[in-house]
Amino acid sequence: MTDPRYAVLFEPVEIGPVTAPNRFYQVPHCNVLGHMRPKAEAANRGVKAEGGWGVVCTQEVEIHPSSELTPFVEGRLWDDRDIPQHRLMTDAVHAHGALAGIELAYNGHHANNLYSRISPMAPSATIVHGNMPVHARGMTRADIKNVRRWHVAAAKRARRAGYDIVYVYAGHDMVTLMHFLKKSMNHRTDEYGGSLENRARLLHETLCDVKDAVGDTCGIALRFATDELLGEDGLRHESEGRDVVGLLAEIPDLWDVNVADWGNDSATARFEPAEGYQEKYTAFVKTLTSKPVVGVGRFTSPDAMVSQIKRGVLDLIGAARPSIADPFLPNKIREGRIEDIRECIGCNICVAQDNLSGPIRCTQNPTQGEEWKRRWHPERIEPAKTLEQVLIVGAGPAGLECALQLARRGHEVMLAEARNSLGGRSARESMLPGLSSYSRVADYRINQLQRLPNVQMFPGNALSAGDIVDLGIEHVFVATGSQWRRDGAGRFHHHAIDGIHSAHVLTPDDILNDNSPSGEVIIYDDDHYLMGGVIAEHLHNNGANITLVTTEPVVSSWTVNTLEQDKIQSKLMRMGIGIITSHCIATVNGANVDVASIYCADQITSLYADAIIMATSRVGETDLFDELSNHADQFSTLKQIGDCEVPGTIAAATYSGHHAARVFQSGAGEYDHLYAREIIQIELECQH
Ligand code: ADP
Ligand code: SF4
Repeated sequence: MTDPRYAVLFEPVEIGPVTAPNRFYQVPHCNVLGHMRPKAEAANRGVKAEGGWGVVCTQEVEIHPSSELTPFVEGRLWDDRDIPQHRLMTDAVHAHGALAGIELAYNGHHANNLYSRISPMAPSATIVHGNMPVHARGMTRADIKNVRRWHVAAAKRARRAGYDIVYVYAGHDMVTLMHFLKKSMNHRTDEYGGSLENRARLLHETLCDVKDAVGDTCGIALRFATDELLGEDGLRHESEGRDVVGLLAEIPDLWDVNVADWGNDSATARFEPAEGYQEKYTAFVKTLTSKPVVGVGRFTSPDAMVSQIKRGVLDLIGAARPSIADPFLPNKIREGRIEDIRECIGCNICVAQDNLSGPIRCTQNPTQGEEWKRRWHPERIEPAKTLEQVLIVGAGPAGLECALQLARRGHEVMLAEARNSLGGRSARESMLPGLSSYSRVADYRINQLQRLPNVQMFPGNALSAGDIVDLGIEHVFVATGSQWRRDGAGRFHHHAIDGIHSAHVLTPDDILNDNSPSGEVIIYDDDHYLMGGVIAEHLHNNGANITLVTTEPVVSSWTVNTLEQDKIQSKLMRMGIGIITSHCIATVNGANVDVASIYCADQITSLYADAIIMATSRVGETDLFDELSNHADQFSTLKQIGDCEVPGTIAAATYSGHHAARVFQSGAGEYDHLYAREIIQIELECQH
């Protein structure tokens, strides 16, 4: 039963000739399923429509081979042959009464054309985005006409594919229509350069072209970045960003507004903790147009959503990540099940997959991307064939997820945890600066488990192998987590660092257990994800004098994939934390630490350290499992899951726990669960 306070979220909204059934709007977002995995794409989007999203959009869709994104897998609509795969998506979305939207994208100098090998184009000749040794040529007037024509052709195909909403895309600093707007990229002296009216001409014309072509039956959305957060060097919501909205105010049927670049739009919770963090950049849009406005801000709470509507900030609640973490978020609000919402934690593991060209995954939602491949549904799981008593040891992300899914299948679940509080690393790491939302991984699952009658949870119970054997439970999952290594072995050193045992060495586990050093502290990061950098910030805040030594050329290098690397490095530098890159710890003698260049081992810098924190690599906490393995004949199931089996991300742990619960009792071996694959069909007829 819908809480009357939230009823406004379920009002229909007209978007030109089409009507969204409610205000929940999944804005275009990448999932790396796209043109290579169209059935998975359709299932992924279809589940969101089933979960109540009134509008469900594609990711960016290439409209012409002169702007193609290889190796990234996005959507593709180059010609008529691409229509059937889009039809899969629109049918899946329509099956649940939602509207389907498509984001047409011409990326220009943001596309490297590694497949088509066509020279990229830009408003003015320039070197391409990223670090490719490629330049883009300046567009001629004929090129400009072509880009308009290609948008129109793609829009017509999109309509034939069944889309209800067609996007004209000028956001994220990723597309030609935005590049023309930017003074820094548009140096043209013709009618497409110079004044803002001129720089906006191509966007204006394309918008009108697309509206003329399909606007009688399709809603035309304009996705626009009102601010680039670059100050005078970019579009700003107080000046040209605002002026563009004023100029085009009534032309689109819908304004989809956000900030650029992607790192600012999809900011992690570490750097933008608040829901609705884009409001200050986009709130003005509704004052300049009568057309509906959708915007994002990692919205997960209905109160924040209602506030956006009531205060006239937005008409539709846009979401990418909240819809990934919980495809059923709208239905849960409608049914008054607010406590069942699985809130996004803002970690950007989903984004990292896109940057790595791997199919989407999510820390909070292990079924994300697996809807077609494994037929996993985010809210449903196959009931157990026979009910069993199951013991799970360890209540971190893996143990909690495994327990929850086994309990949902109907099994009698006992969950034992050595510590007095549940949650494992997700609870502990949430104490670190900027990571408080990580506790949502544990909170959601604990809350769900507490409401199930067939679950018993035993915090403060460190079980030994003997205890477990004595319990006589046949099915045991060991989710005892992992420990950071103390000896410095990791990626650079595959063995203990010389002299390391003479030093005062701590690990991130010690820090999380409140054992923080003071004085001169070296953090040695050979792991390259979050931990080294965030521990540096934490200990600096506690008054220690930190030097971060990393074997990589930049701090927390893997976080380039979560769009945080630049933010982390700049934050640490501003805090005055010492940073030594491309160096390893070569030898240690008590408090004397020699760090060596990884390129020239004889270039050594000597440092003093009261303590060294090793963030190099982790080892699974397998002692319990190993001991239990000696009694294997007493168990029908004895399985390691999560970090205990293989240390990894929290996303890997929730997936591991989920997978173990899904395949429990299926009778298949570890590698028998081969999933559905989309295999390219070879056409045997002669090609002309
Ligand atoms: P994962 O990410 O794989 O879930 P975590 O490290 O977050 O791993 O969680 C592992 C949990 O297992 C920790 O909370 C730890 O206290 C608990 N644990 C470890 N050994 C035992 C044990 N013998 N009995 C009960 N709980 C244990
Ligand atoms: Fe949110 Fe992280 Fe899931 Fe992405 S991976 S949707 S940021 S919880």
